[in-house]
Amino acid sequence: MLPVQNTMNKYTANMVEIFSSIQGEGKLVGVRQVFLRLHGCTLDCSYCDSRITRNTLIPEFCKIETTPGRQVFELITNPVPFTYITNLLTAWVSLQPNAHHSISITGGEPLLHVEALQEYLPELRKILPIYLETNGINFHELSKCIDFIDYISMDIKLPSTTKSRDFWEEHRNFLKIAARKDVYVKIVISEETPLSEIRKACEVIVSVNRNIPLIMQPITIADVSQTISSKLIFELQEEASKFVDEVRIIPQTHKYLHLL
Ligand code: SF4
Repeated sequence: MLPVQNTMNKYTANMVEIFSSIQGEGKLVGVRQVFLRLHGCTLDCSYCDSRITRNTLIPEFCKIETTPGRQVFELITNPVPFTYITNLLTAWVSLQPNAHHSISITGGEPLLHVEALQEYLPELRKILPIYLETNGINFHELSKCIDFIDYISMDIKLPSTTKSRDFWEEHRNFLKIAARKDVYVKIVISEETPLSEIRKACEVIVSVNRNIPLIMQPITIADVSQTISSKLIFELQEEASKFVDEVRIIPQTHKYLHLL
């Protein structure tokens, strides 16, 4: 394993885990990625499958896969020095050239660590392209680091599934900035999703560009049993298709493969 070195970086981010897996969601479903999962989120979505990242207590350790994709981990004290991360990823890419498509910066909500991202991303991008997974709300933070990002998976959060207020204006502002890059919108849908919220989300997309792909993701639970009726899936797809050019339905496929 690589030695832990002192970092010269001004900013650091507390990490939850670093591992290699298959992207199970969205437009790039099926590609192999390195996942950097950052700590913390200001939302509390009922379906969140990254509960540890929402915990207000900063994790003492980050779980780091010792060999990419083998699901054996060791613990490194937070904050993980950035030079440790770059050395690790450089070693993985040289060990398995061409195996990885990109680095997924995920969470939690990664943009809560925008100062660290401004330092990290230019260096990480020398190793692999950068894919940002975000709740699509913190548009000021996105504007500070968008130049170092290649792909954006942007959520639009529906009040019926988050059980919180709506974020339509934040999402609109976010998408205007994200549209400079290869972006798609993801909406998690459930049996409680009303057509009115899908219409509102599509209005946000169309106000920026109706060509931006929309992926509706049925809530996918660990045993992959059905959480939403096929009738409602078709109704939501038909409604969205009235407004947006490209609408797809994709569950969280990594859960079918029992991957991280
Ligand atoms: S925004 Fe993402 S990480 Fe945050 S609570 Fe919702 S699903 Fe979980």
